[in-house]
Amino acid sequence: NEILIEVKNLKKYFPIRKGFFGGHTQYVKAVDDVSFFIRKGETLGLVGESGCGKSTTGRTIIRLYKPTDGEVVFGNAEIGHMNEKELHPFRKRIQMIFQDPYASLNTRMTVGDIIGEALDIHGLASGKERLEIIHELLAKVGLNPDHAVRYPHEFSGGQRQRIGIARALAVRPEFIICDEPISALDVSIQAQVVNMLEDLQAELGLTYLFIAHDLSMVRHISDRVGVMYLGKLVEIADSEELYQHPAHPYTKALLSSIPIPDPDISKAKKRIILEGDVPSPLNPPSGCRFRTRCPYAMPKCAEVEPPMKDVGGGHMAACHLL
Ligand code: SF4
Ligand code: MG
Repeated sequence: NEILIEVKNLKKYFPIRKGFFGGHTQYVKAVDDVSFFIRKGETLGLVGESGCGKSTTGRTIIRLYKPTDGEVVFGNAEIGHMNEKELHPFRKRIQMIFQDPYASLNTRMTVGDIIGEALDIHGLASGKERLEIIHELLAKVGLNPDHAVRYPHEFSGGQRQRIGIARALAVRPEFIICDEPISALDVSIQAQVVNMLEDLQAELGLTYLFIAHDLSMVRHISDRVGVMYLGKLVEIADSEELYQHPAHPYTKALLSSIPIPDPDISKAKKRIILEGDVPSPLNPPSGCRFRTRCPYAMPKCAEVEPPMKDVGGGHMAACHLL
């Protein structure tokens, strides 16, 4: 399939002023030179520990943030540096689903108005047609048309996430960024929401970026998976390839920490325990950022940043061992 979205050398730095009397500004390099693409109709999983930059990557793609540098190409258009007016038509085509649906829903609006607001902003429907679309969307996400007159607090976490999904779908997007949409839900509900997202993808031809902190969460929904560490993409590959033949020591460590024994994965995995905490993104290690926790670190790793290398068939990883 054709490529729908491509980020090229994306950087997002957040300034932090040090010292009260105008000390110099330091930067948190939340996303630091990240490149990948997503084909139309596919799901790219994006995984890493908290603070690795995965959410910031998603929020920069959807232009909640403006990139510090680099490009976000959607279709044929570079949207990373557009102004708000130029962005308006793209706001409809790209939507986001959040980790905490309650925090992202206006608690004083009815469910119908939450969903309808998206239709209003883009002038998509009004009156009777608007109400019909709201009812249709509620049915699509497994809720009841009667729910339109109720308020978010009357629903369970899983139902609220369904409301968030209905709101995202209202403007008929092509691309949805799912930012840890199941992490806050009960395990019993997680599979339902993932299955629903997959059904909606097939029915509506959607493309997903699916962000999660755990490789086990994205395995079944992702066609390809990318792994981030301290602002860098360290590995990206077709899903099965990544789980069965992980190339980067960090990916191997993440896989070996998945608690449920999976015969496919355990074949490929040697148990690697990650020691220590993720270093501060204000002051990341020189060379390979993973070196302070990597069991294979060698002198070169402190001096030279490992470039992304194709280890076969588009499977890319950044490590001097390769
Ligand atoms: Fe480990 Fe060095 Fe590879 Fe980084 S480059 S993952 S420190 S072996
Ligand atoms: Mg996050």
